[in-house]
Amino acid sequence: MKRLAVVGSTGSIGQNTLRVVEHLSDRFRIFALAANSAVDRLAEQTAAFHPAVVGIRDGGRVDEFVIQCQKRRISIPEVVTGEEGLRQIASAPEVDIVVSAAVGAAGLSPTYSAVASGKTVALANKEAMVVAGELLRKTAEKSGARIIPVDSEHSAVDQCLRSGRKNEVRRLILTASGGPFRETRVEQFEKISPEEALKHPVWQMGKRITVDSATLMNKGLEVIEARWLFDIPSEKIDIMVHPQSIVHSMVEFVDGSVVAQLGTADMRQPIQYALTYPERLPSSVPHLDWTTVSRLDFAPPDPKKFPCISLAYRAIEMSGTAPAVLNAADEVAVELFLERKIVFSDIPNLIASTLEAHKTKIADSLESVTEADSWARQRACGWLS
Ligand code: MG
Repeated sequence: MKRLAVVGSTGSIGQNTLRVVEHLSDRFRIFALAANSAVDRLAEQTAAFHPAVVGIRDGGRVDEFVIQCQKRRISIPEVVTGEEGLRQIASAPEVDIVVSAAVGAAGLSPTYSAVASGKTVALANKEAMVVAGELLRKTAEKSGARIIPVDSEHSAVDQCLRSGRKNEVRRLILTASGGPFRETRVEQFEKISPEEALKHPVWQMGKRITVDSATLMNKGLEVIEARWLFDIPSEKIDIMVHPQSIVHSMVEFVDGSVVAQLGTADMRQPIQYALTYPERLPSSVPHLDWTTVSRLDFAPPDPKKFPCISLAYRAIEMSGTAPAVLNAADEVAVELFLERKIVFSDIPNLIASTLEAHKTKIADSLESVTEADSWARQRACGWLS
């Protein structure tokens, strides 16, 4: 029986994780659940999974959580709050696997705690690897933590890499659905509304990642994530637009052989893989119906339409704190776009301007990364004036 801590349990990955735990209830038990502020859902999950500890990042929501538990007539678990509470949960000695699924930069500090305490970390919070990839990698080497990606592309790469040795890899090919504007003319981009950008053709996800999928910044961030997860230079990481989203990513080996991972677009698959690794178990995910797969298309992304991709490669080249700046500037740009303060085509301009103004430092501590993050947020917010 493995004991789990799910940080970010009320978001889309968190909820899917609990569905996997429910399906494999003879293998996994929930020790702790943590959320930012959605205490309603957290109480519902507490009633269903009986965690010993619950973390609520927004301490002001604890009373409401207690009321929600009383309404459901369930005993109230130990409650910890704030970032410190989340770190406590992620490093608790009772926990075997930490599912790191908090959204955005908020996931960094609990992820770091989990890695530093040598846990197995099922990593869905890609920002942690983007802003502090090098630090997390080095920390894992010291603590013996194992980081298993939950992001569908990286889970696919992880699975494909098991076909060969590291020095036999020629390149990683991350696939991208291309988002909702794959066929939209670049001249139309400034007229794209938040509602249009929030309609993703394949995946149901949070707001920021959905807009990031429309600008393809999501894929740029995934290149950075892959660079650190698999310790491979960015020159060996390519992106291919694949609108059917059936091939979740591929690895090309030096002998010319390409190994791909395919499946239905259901996050429970990569989540379960991360939890049961290195084993595979029957899952409740619908199997790929080959009678409906008529074709698989691939094309390189258009750099003129999606400049966010080259910005991500630029951030890797600048190294150090630059990826943290890229991520923070993007988060601000997406917020401003959703608030209709900037247009869709301004998103890459705002990020580029912030990145170029940054003086890169070595990212060897959480402090240096969070400092760069705050600097970038301030700078990006000032872009409007
Ligand atoms: Mg992904």
